[in-house]
Amino acid sequence: MLNKFFKKTKYITVSQESLRRNEEVDKKPSIPDGMWVKCDGCGEVLYKSDLEDNNRICSKCNHHFRLTAKERINLIIDKDTFVEFDKGMKTANPIAFEGYEEKIQKMNRNTNINEAVITGTGDIFGEQIVICVMDSFFMMGSMGSVVGEKITRAVEKSIELKLPLIIFTTSGGARMQEGMFSLMQMAKVSAALSKLDKEGLLYITVLTDPTTGGVTASFAMLGDIILSEPKALIGFAGKRVIEQTIRQKLPEGFQKAEFLLEHGFIDKIVSRNDLKNTLKKILLIHNRSRY
Ligand SMILES: [Zn+2]
Repeated sequence: MLNKFFKKTKYITVSQESLRRNEEVDKKPSIPDGMWVKCDGCGEVLYKSDLEDNNRICSKCNHHFRLTAKERINLIIDKDTFVEFDKGMKTANPIAFEGYEEKIQKMNRNTNINEAVITGTGDIFGEQIVICVMDSFFMMGSMGSVVGEKITRAVEKSIELKLPLIIFTTSGGARMQEGMFSLMQMAKVSAALSKLDKEGLLYITVLTDPTTGGVTASFAMLGDIILSEPKALIGFAGKRVIEQTIRQKLPEGFQKAEFLLEHGFIDKIVSRNDLKNTLKKILLIHNRSRY
């Protein structure tokens, strides 16, 4: 019985036709209809098209609004160079969690993606890389079997193609609907990254708001270089849980990118508007040092 349970397929592949339908819906903007958007950082009401022109950063307080994985890829990867891996991979409810399939279907409809990560290859100013971008709009970017499998395959592709790997993280943690299968993804991805490391290939992580739980406790913090967007929430357990456990008040700004930079957990905080240039510089330095 237990044997059967482990052998159960944890993901399936969806048809090309449904992927095409999703692509048609993709063309719609992701910000809700309306001309104005209220900033979560300072409360200022911002003109939507100004916000989009500024890569969804508040011009008043520098608050970085969350991006979908597709928006992120459009921002970072050179036009028409992105080739996606494993686009049709979809979860098959490995522990038969009640209501999970319906929830996933609803997420597919709302976000037009099949899972909480998009992986593929593309160029950054002509430098080819393998990229994984998590999406917090899909079940809070939680990591289940498909997220783990897609990232592991992308790492293996990096090794095969001898390309640098960049992962943009955003996650609420492990996906509870997949029980221990989601926790196992931490070890699986980390083991693949260890192979990448032995091959001497570059691995950059870019932490975006929020990066928490099992993702922080595994591949988010394993980057050779760890970048973060300003004021991103980065942590393992929630602040309230920690305070209740240790019965102590936590310092101001705890679990914010700035606090983590000060304490040596991350290498640099980079504004979204400078991110592509910064990544290009790191890639060029690395390429030069290899020859
Ligand atoms: Zn603001």
